[in-house]
Amino acid sequence: MNKKIIFSISILLSLIYICGCALSSREYTKQFIAMDTYMSLKAYGDFADNSLELAKTEINRLDLLLSAEKENSEISILNSTGYCKVSSDTATIIETALSLGNNTEGTINIAIYPIVELWGFPGRDYYVPKEAELEQLLPSTSLENIIFNKSTSEITLKDNAKLDLGAIAKGYTSDKVIEILKNNGVTSAIISLGQNVQTLGRKPDGSLWTVGIKNPDTDNKKLSTDDIIGTLSVENKAVISSGNYERFFISDGQKYHHIIDPDTGYPADTGLISVTIVSESGIVADALSTALFVMGKDKALDYWDSHRNDFDVVFIEENGNITITSGLQNTFNSKLPYSVAR
Ligand code: ADP
Ligand code: MG
Repeated sequence: MNKKIIFSISILLSLIYICGCALSSREYTKQFIAMDTYMSLKAYGDFADNSLELAKTEINRLDLLLSAEKENSEISILNSTGYCKVSSDTATIIETALSLGNNTEGTINIAIYPIVELWGFPGRDYYVPKEAELEQLLPSTSLENIIFNKSTSEITLKDNAKLDLGAIAKGYTSDKVIEILKNNGVTSAIISLGQNVQTLGRKPDGSLWTVGIKNPDTDNKKLSTDDIIGTLSVENKAVISSGNYERFFISDGQKYHHIIDPDTGYPADTGLISVTIVSESGIVADALSTALFVMGKDKALDYWDSHRNDFDVVFIEENGNITITSGLQNTFNSKLPYSVAR
């Protein structure tokens, strides 16, 4: 072959490579409101467009199934009649929630809905309950009131129990979205369902995804004046935060937020203002962000110590202290001071 032909072939190959690359790393995005929050999905490559459409359809399907605030959802049927034979999605979420609930001394408790309703969080029609009113409702929130027949997917609720999957449903949903994207040929994506971020693979250029941790100190910005307090560089991970800044109201100068301590019925008050969980599993990260927020930092660190292969944590406290668990040492970046729990 003469030099001219070799040169032409190599130019052609480079062009094919460049075009192929441009095509396979093309970015597609979708933004919409679902599950009472703003969602943003981003995926790359030839299969991304169609896959994101499937993902959006799946999110809307799960929203109609799982919301305690949508009239015909399985959860609403359960809450109004005390019985429902549920879909495999609802069954899986309830099974995981019960197991994590029992495993965390009930700090994540999907039977908390009567208390959440009394505080007026669902319709944003807020009310500060009297202690006696909370005490009267607490027995109905026992996890033992949920009778789950795994083989038939039938659920029966006792003692006027009502379910709320708000602390876990978005984590299950982000797992499902990642699964759909993967099964449809996508290898690079980042999705954000409110404060729930989940990543698939790496960025198209081969670098890690950068996920910001929101500054939870929205009142006086003592911690930092920036909107984020740091970032996490991750691949194939869910990064999910729970904080007292997400949903709250102020009455008589007192702030009441939406993460309830199931022992007292009051908003959890442990000195933490935000807990971020990093895990391969979205459902675990979502459930544990709520559970560890309720536990408080000391108990949460004990819990992490016995499950350190499953997840890592960034804790932010009212007093401005930031603590990360040791698995995040090469993952967490911040210009603020922080300590590492080992
Ligand atoms: P977000 O929904 O803002 O992501 P979480 O995942 O922490 O935050 O879930 C909080 C929601 O879960 C509340 O709005 C409420 O519906 C419900 N909830 C509150 N406290 C608990 C609890 N201890 N266990 C389970 N669910 C809870
Ligand atoms: Mg949660």
